[in-house]
Amino acid sequence: MDWVDLRSDTVTRPTRAMREAMLAAEVGDDVYGEDPTVNALQERVAGELGFEAALFVPSGTQSNLLALLSHCERGDEYLVGADAHTYKFEGGGAAVLGSIQPQPIPHAADGTLPLEALAAAVKPVDPHFARTRLLALENTWHGRVLPLDYLRAAHDFARERGLALHLDGARLYNAAVASGVSARAIARHFDSVSLCLSKGLGAPVGSVLAGSAPLIEKARRWRKVAGGGWRQAGILAAAGLYALDHHVERLAEDHARAARLAEGLGAIPGVALLGRHTNMVFVDVPAARLRELDAHLREARIRISIGYLPTLRLVTHLDVDDAGIERTIAAFRRFFGAPAANDASAAGSGR
Ligand SMILES: *Cc1c(COP(=O)(O)O)cnc(C)c1O
Repeated sequence: MDWVDLRSDTVTRPTRAMREAMLAAEVGDDVYGEDPTVNALQERVAGELGFEAALFVPSGTQSNLLALLSHCERGDEYLVGADAHTYKFEGGGAAVLGSIQPQPIPHAADGTLPLEALAAAVKPVDPHFARTRLLALENTWHGRVLPLDYLRAAHDFARERGLALHLDGARLYNAAVASGVSARAIARHFDSVSLCLSKGLGAPVGSVLAGSAPLIEKARRWRKVAGGGWRQAGILAAAGLYALDHHVERLAEDHARAARLAEGLGAIPGVALLGRHTNMVFVDVPAARLRELDAHLREARIRISIGYLPTLRLVTHLDVDDAGIERTIAAFRRFFGAPAANDASAAGSGR
């Protein structure tokens, strides 16, 4: 029996057809700009999102870092969500490697950063302060799609204040598919966009940063400095192109499966459904039973990640089918239906 792995959409493995596309890729040395498949991917993403240029990079973390380094100088500041990937989950890279100060802003429940809070955080031009240079947003944020109206307002706000606007669009295509608009309709509000090919799109490796030609030239230099100048990366770019051709529309299936999972889990006494957003389901279970639940699910060859977030996050993706969803619901049912005999021994396991 195959594992149902709901820890993240990063766990997808390349399909046979994707591997065939990788095998057939024409390649060259990308540091010389001579890999035709990398170039095709970059042109494709730039064109699709409405930017002049794009850069293929190994990871979303590097893509965001290159964007921050390219928009900001030493002593500059970026406004960013307090629970945003570009602030909290990237090892402090902008500060560590760029001497760029983050100004975290608490998120509203829908993932937006309230414009009043942003306005209050912009520093006056004065030697006391870091120079506020950039606003970084994330879409989707914990699966939530930021409203287009908000993006428009954030764009106008950034323009008025002379700030650049970056989007961490690791799951940009989930946002686009869920809201029935093109990725370009979201990207048009930003000066740069980073997207991951290695999440729900199912490529093994890779992210793309898109922006103006001068911005991407800077990012290319920083990529080399960061050790990200790669050679025959066309093998990986081919997977990315395949993903864009074949795995975008199908994200709707992941969203539908997440909805079914939410419905199934929400009906189980003992499981509190907190929400379902695009391909992510958030539930709360009694903390004292978490480890026991994890062991029970593993027995049924189901993986979830515990302890990483305060709530349980289950993520659907390319490698989770309808049967996997039903198996997961059934396993949760068995667990919560059974007499809770071991509660005492599991108590205090915390999380
Ligand atoms: C995964 C992710 C990233 C970074 O991706 P890596 O490729 O793992 O470095 C950036 N932002 C968000 C929102 C993500 O989910």
